Amino acid sequence: MSNPISVVVIGGGYAGVMAANRLTSHQDLTVTLLNPRPRFVDRIRLHEHVARGSEAELDFARILNPRVRLDVGSATRIDSADRMVELEDGDALPYDYLVYAVGSTSAAPRVPGAAEHALPLAGLEQARRLREALLASPDALVTVVGAGPTGIELAAELAESGRRVTLLCGTLLAPSLHTRGRDAVAQRLADLGVTVLQGDGTEVIAVDAHSVTLADGRTIPSGITAWATGFGVPELARRSGLATDAAGRLLTDETLTSIDAPRIVATGDAASPSDAPYRMSCQAAMQLGPQAAETVLSRIDGRAPRPVEVAFAGQCLSLGRRGGLFQVSGRDDVPTPLVIRSRGGAALKRTICGSIRWELAMEARHPGAFRWWLREPARGNRVADVQHDATIAMLDVHEHAVATSGDA
Ligand SMILES: Cc1cc2nc3c(=O)[nH]c(=O)nc-3n(C[C@H](O)[C@H](O)[C@H](O)COP(=O)(O)OP(=O)(O)OC[C@H]3O[C@@H](n4cnc5c(N)ncnc54)[C@H](O)[C@@H]3O)c2cc1C
Repeated sequence: MSNPISVVVIGGGYAGVMAANRLTSHQDLTVTLLNPRPRFVDRIRLHEHVARGSEAELDFARILNPRVRLDVGSATRIDSADRMVELEDGDALPYDYLVYAVGSTSAAPRVPGAAEHALPLAGLEQARRLREALLASPDALVTVVGAGPTGIELAAELAESGRRVTLLCGTLLAPSLHTRGRDAVAQRLADLGVTVLQGDGTEVIAVDAHSVTLADGRTIPSGITAWATGFGVPELARRSGLATDAAGRLLTDETLTSIDAPRIVATGDAASPSDAPYRMSCQAAMQLGPQAAETVLSRIDGRAPRPVEVAFAGQCLSLGRRGGLFQVSGRDDVPTPLVIRSRGGAALKRTICGSIRWELAMEARHPGAFRWWLREPARGNRVADVQHDATIAMLDVHEHAVATSGDA
């Protein structure tokens, strides 16, 4: 009997877990998931962990198909010529196909003093450090630098828990939202007592242990400075000599296949299809994971893989426990004037966070359960009519939330 085909998935985040589970729909594969930690990190809950200490980890057993072998370790290099993943402990994992799903980290801060004095929030260890700093200094003034979704969610959580918080936007509060969404966020932050500084001159140019300095010369006292200015990606692809985009994401074609190593398929935040990556998000990762697996399965079965397609539904922000916002977007991720606020937005956010775990578990139990339907073959204009279970779940809840809160 011939050896089974071996597929290694590097990275057990949303995309990697979805990919690994989907791969088990093929009976003749061995699937190995390589991840540095023995438990799954639910990154979209890390700001809640920081503010409230709530659990942001999950046992892999709850969301992985039993046929997936979890290997706890870190990849240091991919040898695409010999089809080997070199590991930190000196070992190596051979593969027939590789799924590159290493996700994202905090972007390296370029502002003087930020690396030494600011605390980023992109991964579990960073969230723990930030929480410990907050617990150690309960009266410290907190400054959150960066007013994208992560910075906003963190500022709102901390303010709701009684902290004095300043949110520094650099330029604009919530730039990725429609003005109606932005106004709703500004109102909620004002209600929570967050000081929001935005506009020209509010860009941070220096950080020290007790303050941050803005471009307009102002100095803002800051006992704890949280850094939420965006995500970067691990260096693994670049270090391995694989083609990447400028940010270091693995460069792929429209089937998520590496442009210079046909047995390597990328997914999630670390993938850059045609050098036009999707917004780094759990929302995209949950859709890209199964599609990366489908590309591998197609190749194994001698079928042509399908072009990638991701349909966004919107952006959902928690604004403390009792507030939230769902910014509805087109499938192309462009925000529309439709926003669901307040209790409706908060209910929707809670449901979406819960549904992610449920979807991971469903795909583990029934590989192929998480599905999408394409009416357009390619993403060219990114408006293909794609729907998937999560979108349907969100819209169901949306209707419920609107019906019950009346504040959409
Ligand atoms: C506080 C916070 C809130 C967020 N909220 C939302 C939200 O509401 N909605 C949304 O859509 N997105 C949100 N995001 C973004 C979202 O979490 C990411 O975009 C998403 O996690 C990307 O999924 P992924 O599977 O590509 O990567 P990840 O979830 O980052 O998983 C990558 C995995 O690869 C592992 N890995 C990395 N390097 C190696 C290596 N060398 N060897 C082995 N394993 C490796 C990592 O340890 C990790 O387990 C939020 C992020 C944060 C930090």
